[in-house]
Amino acid sequence: MHGTTGQAKATKYIFVTGGVSSSLGKGIISASLAKLLQCRGMKVTIQKLDPYINIDPGTLNPYEHGECFVTDDGAETDLDLGHYERFLDVRTSQANNITTGRIYQSVIDKERRGEYLGRTVQVIPHITDEIKRCVQILGSGDDYDFVITEIGGTVGDIESLPYIEAVRQMRWEQPEDTLVIHLTLVPYLSAAGELKTKPTQHSVKQLLEFGVQPDVLVCRTEHQLSNSIRNKLARFCNVNVEAVIQSIDAETIYDVPLLMQEEGLDKVVMNKLKVEYSGRINLNPWMNFLHKHKNPDDQVNIALVGKYVELKDSYKSIAESFTHAGAACGLEVKMHWIHSEQILPDNGEEVFSGMNGILVAPGFGSRGIDGKIEAIRYARENAIPFFGICLGMQCAVIEFARNVLGLEDAHSTEIKDYTPYPVIDLMEEQKGLADMGGTMRLGAYPCRLSPDSIAANAYGQDRVEERHRHRYEFNDAYREQFIENGMMPTGTHPDSNLVEIVEIPSHPWFVGAQFHPEYKSTVATPHPLFKSFIEASHANKFDKKRPGTAENKSTSAT
Ligand code: GLN
Repeated sequence: MHGTTGQAKATKYIFVTGGVSSSLGKGIISASLAKLLQCRGMKVTIQKLDPYINIDPGTLNPYEHGECFVTDDGAETDLDLGHYERFLDVRTSQANNITTGRIYQSVIDKERRGEYLGRTVQVIPHITDEIKRCVQILGSGDDYDFVITEIGGTVGDIESLPYIEAVRQMRWEQPEDTLVIHLTLVPYLSAAGELKTKPTQHSVKQLLEFGVQPDVLVCRTEHQLSNSIRNKLARFCNVNVEAVIQSIDAETIYDVPLLMQEEGLDKVVMNKLKVEYSGRINLNPWMNFLHKHKNPDDQVNIALVGKYVELKDSYKSIAESFTHAGAACGLEVKMHWIHSEQILPDNGEEVFSGMNGILVAPGFGSRGIDGKIEAIRYARENAIPFFGICLGMQCAVIEFARNVLGLEDAHSTEIKDYTPYPVIDLMEEQKGLADMGGTMRLGAYPCRLSPDSIAANAYGQDRVEERHRHRYEFNDAYREQFIENGMMPTGTHPDSNLVEIVEIPSHPWFVGAQFHPEYKSTVATPHPLFKSFIEASHANKFDKKRPGTAENKSTSAT
């Protein structure tokens, strides 16, 4: 391996399939294994293959698939890529998330170009070849010792069959360099007082029908697996008993790498793939983070105002950014999810009672906009730290235009076509675009920070790169009016001068960012803006001027 012996050897491919049930946490298991291998000095990347026909999740409603994660190269991807980046602190790209739609699109494009030379184009071999190409492309250079490929869906789903078939072919072609981990559920029947292995046996049988023998079983369970259960699973599923790995419910997702290490998952994998490794594994930074996360000095209450609060996966990266930054600041960040439709012009005091900071989330469309604007007015007028992200920043601009500049009915043209004051307007390059998928301003762009701004102080830099996902922007025609009245553009794109950050210097902490800082926060590198926001929110807790901020005051807005 590159990481161990110094000479380049073949990249190892690990496939992670799921059985019995969805939502068992394949993404977290894959990220945890990757973390353990990385802590042993290996170079690892993770890839997600999604069986749906959408080209990417960019056009999917968050209710269906949770948050859409955006990479530096502007790919709109599955939220599992967020876990990969947060665990590993390495960047992913479009190559790390492939969908059936993308596979078919590329095969059909080739067919139209005549590249199949008159042959019939079929699922096997053309679709499976394209799948294999997308997997192997990550291992083709000298970049990675391991490529971990997570296959979305559950074994037996019709739509994931071509992926399983591609795995079968790769196992056959490269037996020494490939391995299959099957994540399954071992349910506990309380009436019988027993853990049951039959669903796992059946799901492994199903994999075997497709010609794939798993090498490792990772068993999600609510109770400890006894030796006899482990032996039974091993015997019925043709795996070694050490390769039956228990994945018991964990307190936090960040405990999972340690639990997997206790179970020896990394060693089982390396032994099976005949990878040399030393006994040393450096998990100290990870353990430090976990210790700080679990032993905070104090707590801050943050209101997250959004329109998908029923489904917390819609704001996954924001919630995790608070976890990382909270640990770095020695604080527990207690999040209070507030539906924007609940916020009215006269109930701010009640809804935000006990809140030390207010974050208004990103989003699209008009639902809940009025509530977001009211939340921002409340934060601005009551000197409560405010953080607006993307749509949250745009709402802050609208609120300021209406209530400070006196521009009645100012709005974003996304919400209202004909507003007298379009303070947020469609970006020039978006005009005339008809396609919805992949046409936004996406991915990393540079941003120049004004000296002495909150942002510049937080980052400790005067130029940063952050990821974007939007169509609308601050309308430059109003820039001077905002500056004269105290809302400053403190972050701008160096070439186009697009406004990326706005701040109100007379307020304790009021920052709106057109970009998504949450996509870049990781365990190893908590995001500076989140840290600064949490520190300001903690200070607010001791601001005696504001009613309802006395320490220990209970909150009503959970
Ligand atoms: N809907 C807004 C836009 O397209 C904001 C997008 C977002 O919050 N990600 O500009």
